[in-house]
Amino acid sequence: MEHRAEARVDVSAIAANIALLKSQSAVELLAVVKADAYGHGLIEVGLAAERAGADWLGVALLEEAILLRTRGVRIPILAWLVSPGSDFKSSVTHDIDVAISSVMAFNEIASLKVKPRVHIEVDTGMTRGGFLDEWQEFLTLDLSQIEIAGVFSHFARADEPSEKQNIDQLNRFKEMVADLAAVGINPPIKHLSNSAATLMNHGAAFDLVRTGIALYGLSPDANTLGSSKDLGLKPAMQLRAKLHLVKSVPANSPVGYGATAFTQSATKLGVVAMGYADGIPRNTQGAGVAFEGEKAPIIGRVSMDQFVVDLGADSTAQSGDWVIVFGDGSHGEYTADDWARASGSINYEITTRIGPRVPRIYAPHVY
Ligand SMILES: *Cc1c(COP(=O)(O)O)cnc(C)c1O
Repeated sequence: MEHRAEARVDVSAIAANIALLKSQSAVELLAVVKADAYGHGLIEVGLAAERAGADWLGVALLEEAILLRTRGVRIPILAWLVSPGSDFKSSVTHDIDVAISSVMAFNEIASLKVKPRVHIEVDTGMTRGGFLDEWQEFLTLDLSQIEIAGVFSHFARADEPSEKQNIDQLNRFKEMVADLAAVGINPPIKHLSNSAATLMNHGAAFDLVRTGIALYGLSPDANTLGSSKDLGLKPAMQLRAKLHLVKSVPANSPVGYGATAFTQSATKLGVVAMGYADGIPRNTQGAGVAFEGEKAPIIGRVSMDQFVVDLGADSTAQSGDWVIVFGDGSHGEYTADDWARASGSINYEITTRIGPRVPRIYAPHVY
């Protein structure tokens, strides 16, 4: 069956990005594949990352980790959003490391006969996950009851390398590691860096770096750190769609729900067979598609299953032709960063929100 839209994922780009990231730090690399690998496909990317030399995989949920394990991943897997009340026994069955950030989670694991390996998450200043108010109490517990494999934290502003909060978090991390040492706990794997810190803050690498967005060839922040290209990263996803219809319309035609836009002059419009149900942000202004290297911006509101682009009066595009929604930008197309800017979002959200109606095709990009 011919698709009306597809997200093409080039796993060789992911392999190249892993090679680049590994060359940036001499420590182990954990490939972050949570949220269906930022929309790229959990299993395919997980297995490709393992083949490409990733040392670990990281996910948010235990069920994501179990899927990876049951589909054949053999390298260590860490799941860091495993709440109290979770089925910690299944993490043992499937050989998955779990993070804890509360005394409640510690007690649950300590009471098990067979215990999973644990990474202690500490809050060094992001004020999200990790031990904070319970830290002193935690240090008084009998920590020999559990197997502590690691200690980690997460940066809030690594994409703004000159922000003082980065130094503060790094210092706080070292203090909390020292707190553990003072009670005789020296976790073998200390980790703090996300993609931005891996690229910009080599002093924060410790024993392992956790890279997500850069794995997919996207910049952690194109405004502060430069584009994919500037960073030497290769965007792995190309999103394509079909022109459901091409039609000629006169000047001053109202386009779409609410008639929020009008054609400036007589032109050809293309109806693209994707909409907000597929993850195309409804409020987008200044992105669109490319046909044969020519940009055609969105006109009017994005609908549930469709949006309209202005191809221009001289366009040779016809109903049924493919257009590129975003790609690496090498053939005149918009990038995920362009879409992020045009919709008030970030590239992470642009790829992650692409819906399940869009098949993922593991093949090179096409132009
Ligand atoms: C998502 C996540 C990462 C990856 O962040 P990127 O900016 O995509 O590299 C790393 N660590 C944790 C704990 C995360 O939740």
